[in-house]
Amino acid sequence: MLFNPKPKTRREDLYNREEELSEIERSIKKGVPLVILLGIRRLGKSSLLNVALNEIPIKSVKIDARKIYSQFGSVPHTALAEIILKEYTKTTPRERIKDVLKGIRGVSIGGVNLELRTNKSVSLSEVLERINSLGERFVIAIDEAQYLRFSNAKYPDLISWAIDDLGNISFILTGSEVGLLEDFLRIHDPESPLFGRAHVEIRLNRFNRYQSLDFLRKGFEEVGIKVEEEELEEVVDELDGIVGWLTLYGYNRYLGLSHRKALKKLKEDAKRLILNEFSKLKELSPRYELAMKAVASGKHRWKEIKEAVELLEGKRIDDKNFSNVLNNLVRYDYLEKTTKGYFIPDPLVELAFR
Ligand code: ADP
Ligand code: MG
Repeated sequence: MLFNPKPKTRREDLYNREEELSEIERSIKKGVPLVILLGIRRLGKSSLLNVALNEIPIKSVKIDARKIYSQFGSVPHTALAEIILKEYTKTTPRERIKDVLKGIRGVSIGGVNLELRTNKSVSLSEVLERINSLGERFVIAIDEAQYLRFSNAKYPDLISWAIDDLGNISFILTGSEVGLLEDFLRIHDPESPLFGRAHVEIRLNRFNRYQSLDFLRKGFEEVGIKVEEEELEEVVDELDGIVGWLTLYGYNRYLGLSHRKALKKLKEDAKRLILNEFSKLKELSPRYELAMKAVASGKHRWKEIKEAVELLEGKRIDDKNFSNVLNNLVRYDYLEKTTKGYFIPDPLVELAFR
């Protein structure tokens, strides 16, 4: 169902994105070692990743870096090693598992269900090396990969080593343009271990007006609900082609709400969701929220945003400190930096901070 609010997993539930999907498939089949899928929240990165992994006839594992981070407060490489090994051996006949794991330290098989367990001495590079040596191609997909930064492990070094030495392994990483690509992987920075490594970048854009309307029409047709064209126009005007929000609106109507109520509920839910996601940054400093409020109220230039925040705080702020605040907001996709200044890329995020 197009309006199912969970990340999609089946191709028939994924509207559009044909081009991006075939680019991922083509790249992986050709053996491109690193595919990077970029886009702001709720444009469908996880959905596209799920569908791509289902469609590509190559063994793969999907790791949700944000989930591991929220579990451990960091992204330990031992956790990745365990997830990868469990997934890799899922289809291996029991009597062969020991053989597959040969030479990897810190792994044991035990319990009633012959469960695979790892301890602290397991090493991710050893795991990757072993899997590579077994001769089958393997795809490691890491969703929200910018969360890998929260770790002692040097993931960019590890990935660049794997790219150079482990020909059977490919990575697909999803995340944000600035947070993942420029800040964490630093793929265009000559000082970075990943600089100059073969890779493919795929950017997810919002739907255009035509696609947004078409998505809604198809979604409503699928669930057999008749809707007015003006209602759809209004929804598209307000949600700016962000498929995650269009989906939630459709889902609210599927649950029986009227147009007005569905839109109202979407905005309320979105606000709660957005402020909840934002609370981590806010815990670091209340200044993040004030800067968002300033931009939401129509300030866009660095200087005018700073002045507005200073007014709210009732004190002067150091320039460098303020630049850090704005850079972090860009890094986490709450702001977008253009030649005209700083903007909020999602209308419901803007609304949440008004
Ligand atoms: P992201 O990972 O970029 O934040 P998700 O994959 O979680 O985005 O998608 C956000 C919401 O939008 C989910 O409800 C998902 O079902 C829906 N969605 C995303 N892309 C599509 C698509 N191409 N067609 C239909 N629904 C989609
Ligand atoms: Mg996602």
